[in-house]
Amino acid sequence: MCGIIGLTGHKDVAYELMMGLTALQHRGQDAAGITTLGQKFNTKKGLGLVNQVFTDKHTKRLNGKIGLGHVRYTTQGSGSKLNSQPIDCNFPFGISMVHNGNVTNADEMQLILRDEYHIMPNTTNDLEYILYTLASEMTKKDLTTIGYQDIFDAVKVVQQRVVGSYACIAVIAGHGLLAFTDPHGLRPAIMGRKKTDKGYVYGFASESTCFDMLGYETVADLRPGEMYFINNKMEIARDIGIVKKQHFCVFEYIYFARPDSVINNKLVADERVKMGKRLAQKLNRAGIKPDIVIDVPTSGYFSASGLAEELGVPYRMGLIKNQHIGRSFITPKQSERENIVKRKLNPIKQVVAGKKVAVVDDSVVRGTTSKRIVSILKASGAKEVYFISAAPPIKHPCVYGIDMSIKTELIAANKTVSEIKEYIGADALVYQELYALEELFKEDLPICTACLSGNYPTPNAENVLARIEQERKKAKKSKKK
Ligand code: 5GP
Ligand code: SF4
Ligand code: MG
Repeated sequence: MCGIIGLTGHKDVAYELMMGLTALQHRGQDAAGITTLGQKFNTKKGLGLVNQVFTDKHTKRLNGKIGLGHVRYTTQGSGSKLNSQPIDCNFPFGISMVHNGNVTNADEMQLILRDEYHIMPNTTNDLEYILYTLASEMTKKDLTTIGYQDIFDAVKVVQQRVVGSYACIAVIAGHGLLAFTDPHGLRPAIMGRKKTDKGYVYGFASESTCFDMLGYETVADLRPGEMYFINNKMEIARDIGIVKKQHFCVFEYIYFARPDSVINNKLVADERVKMGKRLAQKLNRAGIKPDIVIDVPTSGYFSASGLAEELGVPYRMGLIKNQHIGRSFITPKQSERENIVKRKLNPIKQVVAGKKVAVVDDSVVRGTTSKRIVSILKASGAKEVYFISAAPPIKHPCVYGIDMSIKTELIAANKTVSEIKEYIGADALVYQELYALEELFKEDLPICTACLSGNYPTPNAENVLARIEQERKKAKKSKKK
């Protein structure tokens, strides 16, 4: 999972990109980067948060009216600065690109790059497969007369060859801003525009909150396989390339996206409230009657409030989060993760003592957070603790860019619900049912549920998983040495 933004036409594009990235910070905290196009590509990248990487000095140096921004969450490729985005290539014209997603046929793409396009990638970032396929296919066109249709033809070859999830934005020097998604539309991308005294300027981003902050209105969500090109006169071209059945990542609604984002015409907060309401039926069936409902802040809040409302039980804030500590899941090491949970959440004893407490989190992945939370609530005097997960059990690794890639780490892949309940020390453990989650979206949004159901939308997921698992083992071994 990463956050991406691309803007064109704005005179102060670097500043706008930086501001936009701060609204996407929740999507990645490892690294941040901005590239703008002046006389040449100007780039600033660094490890850390947006406000650690960029200062006013940088936004002044990054001149130009068109540019890209990225916040990175390391999945494929190592977490080094070299691997952070945007990534450029100097042919044809000069192309700079950002993406959010994960390529699942990397082995095949490496051979295509080597044997067909005769290119050796500079990094281990899978964005290079997309970038060099696009660039090489564009080079086959008549470059003196190249137009948006030629660019779209090249994107179609990318969509045919590159398997996996990707939402991409690219600056093509001297030509314009391009955006496209994979054939299943796994990752979110939206188009926005803003009225200025010189007419509309345009952009693309992962989430609408980013545009809210910049004063852009959202024009459209990119559909599976859809592509847009905005030339330097702000003329818009649009086409649909290779399309397969839509599989939009349901975890965007469960956890990743900001609650104030609207994705596919659905406010993320609303979907979370609905998930909480559906859980009430399951608690009632199981005869679980809490005195209060609390959330694991902040991602559990909307589901908790929906559950409380449906049960007719008060919602209270029972756990207070230290706002200055990052997302624990994004921290790569298990020992660091446990440590962060301890520093991050503090219970309000007066709220939970003597009560039967239902505590709602968006999901249980490894079980580190839930175990710790049950233990601190009990230590604060809670009479009983019912742990409620707005997501169904995560039993399968995600191969589309979410770092829960290895089966041995997923508690629900290795233990039954009652074993997990014992492990985390809860008096009850209630998961969302997969069918209930699917029902919430079945009217109008085909979703990916691969990590819950094992139904991967792209072929050969098993091979990808085996490779990731091996790479992880190797990395662990070499670290020990
Ligand atoms: P656990 O401690 O069970 O491994 O993780 C569960 C917690 O991690 C939940 O509180 C949830 O908010 C968060 N979480 C779940 N999935 C993800 C993810 O893919 N990425 C990040 N950053 N956090 C996640
Ligand atoms: Fe999202 Fe899960 Fe599908 Fe990955 S496997 S894209 S996390 S729904
Ligand atoms: Mg959480």
